[in-house]
Amino acid sequence: MISVEEASQLILDTIEPAESERVPLARAAGRVLRQPVVAERDQPPFDRVMMDGIALRYDEFGAGSRSFKIQSTQHAGDERQSLKSGHAIEIMTGASLPQNADLVVPVERITVNEHGAHVEANYEGKRRQFVHARGSDHEAGAELLRPGTRITPMDVAILASAGLADVEVAREPSIRVISTGNELVPAGEPIADHQVRLSNGPAIVAMLEAHGYHKASHEHLADDPKLLEARIAEHLDAADVLVLSGGVSMGKADFVPQVLKDLGVEVIFHKISQRPGKPMWFGMGKEGQSVFALPGNPVSTLVCCRQYVVPALRDIDGEPPPPKAFASLTQAVTFKPRLTNFLPVRIVSNATAQLLAMPAPTNTSGDFAALSGTDGYVILNRNQTEFMASSVVPFVRWQ
Ligand code: AMP
Ligand code: MG
Repeated sequence: MISVEEASQLILDTIEPAESERVPLARAAGRVLRQPVVAERDQPPFDRVMMDGIALRYDEFGAGSRSFKIQSTQHAGDERQSLKSGHAIEIMTGASLPQNADLVVPVERITVNEHGAHVEANYEGKRRQFVHARGSDHEAGAELLRPGTRITPMDVAILASAGLADVEVAREPSIRVISTGNELVPAGEPIADHQVRLSNGPAIVAMLEAHGYHKASHEHLADDPKLLEARIAEHLDAADVLVLSGGVSMGKADFVPQVLKDLGVEVIFHKISQRPGKPMWFGMGKEGQSVFALPGNPVSTLVCCRQYVVPALRDIDGEPPPPKAFASLTQAVTFKPRLTNFLPVRIVSNATAQLLAMPAPTNTSGDFAALSGTDGYVILNRNQTEFMASSVVPFVRWQ
């Protein structure tokens, strides 16, 4: 049986990147950039005044002058003026420093009357103080953002400042979440004793939403091979990514692998040496669709969705994998089966800013209520059965 690492690698080797599209700046946040972004102009584009006050000639101030006739006022956005000797220009934050001016005195340090502007007697001014020099943040042509960046609100400011009214991003994959199982009844509908509430469909959609994938819709299907085949065929036609849940184990009603095979989906792997989630299945459709079939146990489904589907979607977008995170176990853990164990944890940090992982084991892989309040899971490698307290292990956040 393949390992967790092999499964992840096979998925990344198989999936195909999404195409690019242009979106208006207002729709760019959360999307993955597909173009380099360089500075349109120097930043700031001119010597920018950083205080409301007056602009002076430093040499006149340095020679002892403290009173100046007011020549004019220059606001932010006004064309740059030229300062005459013996004068001051009233200047506002964001304005371009007037020609011949090289001293800005804040308005709090002057008085103004009918004779002009007067600087406090003992005021110590420095040449070019309160001037944000042209190009001091970056120069025109400087690289500001790289392809593969998931666009944050801060990046939207950068895109706007680079003059981009629209931007090239990865086309958002359309995702179909298909849960299966005769026993499952959605919330809001009457339920009999022998039936179970359907929770995986809404949970998968929510997890994908939390990771920035908004084009996921959910359908539930009964364990009927004919129905499964017809509906999954339609979803394969319509979507880039299918995430199925349930029906991938060895039971008599576990039709999903056979149906996918019959629909021409090439199996890349079935089963990973892990717990929870051992029966996980992955394949590729004829048109390059990624097909994930997750085991139905709710804990298995959530862990497999986070562990395999989310990184695959990032890769489809062209976003590089995030740096690996690690945490230190607060207590010893023994796990006998020779399977990699995804162990839910709560995370706290200590005074040395180390992440501490407090195990929050679920009762079974159906015990999803125990996941509430957990931050993610640690990955305990299958080659080891005893993990001492303070062992440093990989950690994955739910979101
Ligand atoms: P399966 O993988 O189909 O054999 O399902 C394994 C277990 O998970 C069974 O007890 C199912 O009732 C349960 N299960 C499967 N799908 C869901 C779902 N969508 N919501 C809640 N429980 C599920
Ligand atoms: Mg089932």
